[in-house]
Amino acid sequence: MAAARLIDGAAIAAELRRQVAEAASRLRADHDVVPGLATVLVGADPASQIYVNSKNRACTAAGLASFSLHLPAEVAENELLDEIAKLGADDRVDGILVQLPLPRHIDRLNVLAAIDPAKDVDGFHPVNVGRLWSGLPALVPGTPQGCLRLLRTVHADLTGAEAVVLGRSNIVGRPLAALLLAANCTVTIAHSRSRDIPSLCRRTDIVIAALGQPLAVKSEWIKPGATVIDVGINRIQTASGSRLVGDVDFDKACAVAGAITPVPGGVGPMTIACLLANTLVAACRRRSLPDPALPG
Ligand code: NDP
Repeated sequence: MAAARLIDGAAIAAELRRQVAEAASRLRADHDVVPGLATVLVGADPASQIYVNSKNRACTAAGLASFSLHLPAEVAENELLDEIAKLGADDRVDGILVQLPLPRHIDRLNVLAAIDPAKDVDGFHPVNVGRLWSGLPALVPGTPQGCLRLLRTVHADLTGAEAVVLGRSNIVGRPLAALLLAANCTVTIAHSRSRDIPSLCRRTDIVIAALGQPLAVKSEWIKPGATVIDVGINRIQTASGSRLVGDVDFDKACAVAGAITPVPGGVGPMTIACLLANTLVAACRRRSLPDPALPG
């Protein structure tokens, strides 16, 4: 079998960001609206700081307004909730993103539930989760949305395709399963208690790996010609230091799959691009304007 087609997430994300920038510029020209994203960071976790900074930079590059709120690690939960309420009332803010994880003394669910669902650009509010599973318009989390956009570059019509989602987290596996179902796939969700995952994978047209287990998905699990989307980002030690790998044994899987995402450069770049798209969509919906036309 020929080597799999590489799904170039970096290029697809760059194109989505370009289209968000174009649509944002039209929104400004036609309606005098500049979509705004507010990021909320609690504490000084270095990885979280890097994520928040790159989200803010991506906003600015796309012509969106960006507001960042940085609170000390010891902030009380009710103070954080007050700040989120202020952002909810601020008309310049269309999207609110609270960077996770939060310090242990703060209840993550209380915080996510305090975000105005219309500004919930991470799509974690129970209202958006419920709307997604009900097949209603919702703000959809960036990573699963990015996976679907990548899949659509291979399968313009997903109707009837068999897909297995490996992982059932609230941020990736579950919302992705809901999206695939809405796209008329037949969906299996597997997790740490599932039996015989290799067999589940072997019969499906699409395998999406979101396990957080480096190189766990073997080439023998993959049906020849299947599409493989690798969400995993894992750092492993090597003789010369360390490197990032996905949840799929990429080098060998390439010889079996029909199309596959690399790590890095696959799903990763899509997450921020989809966050920008969500901010633009939220800005339009809050003003009863039609959704912007974006690819995927
Ligand atoms: P979680 O740890 O929250 O969830 C992992 C899921 O995989 C769980 O449902 C767990 O099952 C299941 N699982 C773990 N090990 C196995 C196993 N051996 N066999 C079967 N199922 C297993 O992870 P996330 O969903 O947050 O993230 C998954 C991966 O995606 C990580 O590598 C993360 O870094 C990456 N990621 C990448 C993003 C991107 O932008 N590209 C964004 C978000 C995440 P159970 O529920 O039974 O415990």
